[in-house]
Amino acid sequence: MNRIKLHDKEFDIFIPYEKINEAVKKVAQEISKDLKGEDVLFICILNGSFMFTAELFKEIELDEPEVTFLRLSSYEGTDTTGQVKKLIGLNEPVKGRTLVVLEDIIDTGLTIVEVMKMLKEHNPKDVKIATLLLKPEKFSNKMPVDYVGIEIGNDFIVGFGLDYDQKGRHLKDIYKVVD
Ligand code: 5GP
Repeated sequence: MNRIKLHDKEFDIFIPYEKINEAVKKVAQEISKDLKGEDVLFICILNGSFMFTAELFKEIELDEPEVTFLRLSSYEGTDTTGQVKKLIGLNEPVKGRTLVVLEDIIDTGLTIVEVMKMLKEHNPKDVKIATLLLKPEKFSNKMPVDYVGIEIGNDFIVGFGLDYDQKGRHLKDIYKVVD
């Protein structure tokens, strides 16, 4: 299946599962090597990262790693922008632990900057970032990304957990939009 349609748009195959799997294994090996002996809590940022998290977690070789699932909500607040973001679902102890935030994709970096700020308020020992995909053109050095699976261009992509208006998350391969 090389071309698919979701809602009003067409998408072509872009990164086949074999390549994704290789990237996931590479990231898992790097994390396992770097964080040996640490008390590690992986943090999956829902929804897009669920598939990356599941595949990565199976490949992690650490003593008793844990995983938790957080969602970034936005609601009407009283600050000047009117929008206040909040991390929902952090019930595990974080203080003094090593956290690894798992992102599906980093584009402008606004989401990860916000997530890091909120996690650091809970006084972890360290916070690392691991992303399956990075669009370096727009991101440009906002903060170091510790682990990157694959760097891509600015195209809009779907599959492997990523959606186009909620569709396409189930796709095993990654597709990019046809202009
Ligand atoms: P950022 O805050 O880094 O600009 O964007 C991060 C979020 O934007 C991702 O977690 C993802 O939800 C969404 N996003 C960015 N680029 C893409 C893309 O190409 N496809 C999809 N489906 N979502 C994207």
